[in-house]
Amino acid sequence: MTKGFFPKKDEMTDNERELLQDEAIVLHVRHWQTADKYVVCFTKKYGKLRFIAYGARYVKNVQGRLLQPFACVNIEVQQGQKIDKLRSCELVRLPQAFDMQQMAYGAVAAELTAVLTEDREPQEELYALLKETLATLTKRNPRLVVLSFAIKLLGLTGFAPQLSHCVGCGRKLEEKDEAWFSPLQGGALCADCRAAYAGEGLEPCGGGTRRLWQWLEQLDFAKPAPFAVRGGDLMALERLLYKFIFFQTDKQLNSLNFLNQMRL
Ligand SMILES: [Zn+2]
Repeated sequence: MTKGFFPKKDEMTDNERELLQDEAIVLHVRHWQTADKYVVCFTKKYGKLRFIAYGARYVKNVQGRLLQPFACVNIEVQQGQKIDKLRSCELVRLPQAFDMQQMAYGAVAAELTAVLTEDREPQEELYALLKETLATLTKRNPRLVVLSFAIKLLGLTGFAPQLSHCVGCGRKLEEKDEAWFSPLQGGALCADCRAAYAGEGLEPCGGGTRRLWQWLEQLDFAKPAPFAVRGGDLMALERLLYKFIFFQTDKQLNSLNFLNQMRL
């Protein structure tokens, strides 16, 4: 077989393709073939990157060992025809020493980032948020930290639901108003619109739940505003939030299954 006179785009050598260099947080790692790793990272300049680290599972491969969930690394990634590949990797910061619970919540933050973002869509603000969230897991209640992260992530990725006004009639919802959350319509429904709603899958979304949502949305991890979290509101918020994310992504999150099993 001979190649054409002019190489086609997919016959470009690796040196001709762009090399991406950036600081990255490792979101997900899995085994690939016999000695390699498949890695999903979130980077500062390029957003989400996925690549293969060839030979990363060999015992003597120091760079390969750095590729663990939550590690912060400087990477060089070579764009490939089908999939990108890692050229080099150096440590910025080891993953924090998490206990099982913190690790389970960290995995939820990592998986949410992976499923709600697109490849190579730069989002520096999200990078900073993810970094701060992982650092806060050991200092504050990890359940609230990750809920706050998820709500902010929805805002940054354009998925934020409407909770201050009814998505049916546009009426402003006062705290005393009963309301229900519709994952399909992406927001809260007032009592009148709920009565007229023919679909299924609505979740209770009362004033306490909406106020908790707002608090988590604005939560400053360094200086949290005082707030008494009620268990019922927390569970209702968690339920509707994860249901909404499932509705948006059509993916069951492995990390959530794990977390639920741990709680049982
Ligand atoms: Zn309404």
